Amino acid sequence: MNWKTNLQLRDLDNEQAIEVTCKSCGHTRYELPENLKRREELKHAYLDEVEAALSCKQRGCHGAVRIALSTDAETEGFMGGLA
Ligand SMILES: [Zn+2]
Repeated sequence: MNWKTNLQLRDLDNEQAIEVTCKSCGHTRYELPENLKRREELKHAYLDEVEAALSCKQRGCHGAVRIALSTDAETEGFMGGLA
């Protein structure tokens, strides 16, 4: 198990930025949970499903992405809280 399969989008604070990095071109952008939750299919999604649903927005790329919470410290906090 990892935090992506344990956490749902709705478990995150609305202002907790999610770092979205393209596996193909390396382009990084940030998404906020409150924006992603406006997508009907993501409202109750776990973060691994969010990762699968997102793709790179660079023109002509549309590569698969990897998501991370914006600070490592907070990610560890989540993991500690779930342990
Ligand atoms: Zn890309």
